[in-house]
Amino acid sequence: MLQETLRQQLIAMKDVTVLSDPDDMAAHLVDWRRRHFGTAELVVFPGTVQAVSDVLKLCNARGIRVFPQGGNTSVCGGSVPDAAGGAIVLNLARMNRIRAVDADDESMIVDAGCILANVQAAADAEGCLFPMSLGAEGSCQIGGNIATNAGGTGVVRYGNMRELVLGLEVVTADGRIFDGIRTLRKNNTGVDLKQVFIGSEGTLGIITGAALKLFAKPRSFTTAMLAVRDLESALRIGRTLRRGLSGEVSALELLSGSQVDIVRRHGHAKPPMDTPAPWYLVVEISGAAEEQSYRDTLETLLGPELETEAVVDAIIASNERQRGEIWGMRHNVTECNVKEGMGLTHDIALPLARIRDFVEAVEPLIAEALPGACPVVVGHVGDGNLHYIVMMSHEAFADVPDQDGLRQKIGHIVYDAAIALGGTFSAEHGIGSLHTGDMLRYKRSEELEMMQSLKSAFDPRGILNPGRVLPEWTGKEAPHG
Ligand SMILES: Cc1cc2nc3c(=O)[nH]c(=O)nc-3n(C[C@H](O)[C@H](O)[C@H](O)COP(=O)(O)OP(=O)(O)OC[C@H]3O[C@@H](n4cnc5c(N)ncnc54)[C@H](O)[C@@H]3O)c2cc1C
Repeated sequence: MLQETLRQQLIAMKDVTVLSDPDDMAAHLVDWRRRHFGTAELVVFPGTVQAVSDVLKLCNARGIRVFPQGGNTSVCGGSVPDAAGGAIVLNLARMNRIRAVDADDESMIVDAGCILANVQAAADAEGCLFPMSLGAEGSCQIGGNIATNAGGTGVVRYGNMRELVLGLEVVTADGRIFDGIRTLRKNNTGVDLKQVFIGSEGTLGIITGAALKLFAKPRSFTTAMLAVRDLESALRIGRTLRRGLSGEVSALELLSGSQVDIVRRHGHAKPPMDTPAPWYLVVEISGAAEEQSYRDTLETLLGPELETEAVVDAIIASNERQRGEIWGMRHNVTECNVKEGMGLTHDIALPLARIRDFVEAVEPLIAEALPGACPVVVGHVGDGNLHYIVMMSHEAFADVPDQDGLRQKIGHIVYDAAIALGGTFSAEHGIGSLHTGDMLRYKRSEELEMMQSLKSAFDPRGILNPGRVLPEWTGKEAPHG
């Protein structure tokens, strides 16, 4: 009885809580979009770094597979275990302490299980900004954000999660604790080990704590929603704003008309404008200047675009409520898309200058492959990241005889086009279990071999998140069991 002996051993550990009842475990075995299901013997909640280490030592010694889990908001099947059985989920939710916020050092130190919104609020309370922001911020954890090198809406100005991490605390598969919590901006003392763990999706170690970079809180935010005549104009306006406002564009989001229509149909946060348009931009400018000065600059930069009717309508938020409406609409898209139908979602990135080429190349290919499907685009266009979604009704998808085959076929069309233009098949969501085949298709064998060498070094028995990132992502010793 693996479960009972394991449960007894884990319960006996200091600072470890265990769920074993199937009903209690259920929420941890299915992902947010209810597309990935798995099984686990137990869901384990360590409360301290030492407890994480103790759990991993036991699992490593017994060859028990461990699936790390944060807020379970992964959209690529990264956060739930597989269906093979004999595994545990290790959830970080109990490790949710803000350890320190130091405004003078412009840094904070947090447990990995802190919810992102709580990290933002703790920084804000000390007059600082922690700029990572994404639609799942009310439930995703900072450890999950680091494990996936999350992106979000602020990347154009502040960078990905990788740019926001100053130091990390990680427990490797055999229970060793890497204490790399530092708040230094410069530290050239050999290989920067934290970088190996950032974006490794829990396959090399469990992140238990992090030192994060803080920024001066902007004095003002100016947020606008623009309805735009065509994609070329939207991209040109983006360039104009980035150049004209130097580093003060803190978000530049692109939405197709089809995406905004979906939010109009299903949103709890309706778009603040009714004007129909093929494309929309959401722009935020923030910095040390007065809001009026940013409004003036924005109006000057947009003037010619309004005159030529490249911008067919524009709202510049004049208060926090209007700003909230614009962001509420933007952050609501994923939920609305789930209600609309089956979205075959592709999280691609492109060189900024190739975005239009991509959209123009891929649209006819999709129309030919899947007549009747609707292309929906939403993305962080300021950093070249598009979520290219091929939307079908739930009924039409239910009638597809080979659903996995269809996903793969459409995925190959989208990814082949992105890669031909110098892009990538996963920009910010990661690989999870969904894209392991794409790793083999699109990554060079040398890269895959190097990644496998790292796996063997940090997780020789292959117990951590098997089947994520690489299909045969095992250690150098007996795989597991
Ligand atoms: C509505 C919505 C909007 C989203 N918007 C964005 C967006 O704009 N940008 C973006 O990048 N993502 C976005 N996502 C995807 C998701 O929120 C991010 O990938 C997020 O970073 C995952 O955090 P999490 O805590 O939920 O991790 P989980 O989903 O629980 O796990 C994700 C991966 O990280 C691993 N992991 C989790 N915690 C740890 C840890 N402490 N140590 C080691 N490994 C760990 C897991 O094993 C898994 O492989 C969105 C998701 C939703 C539902």
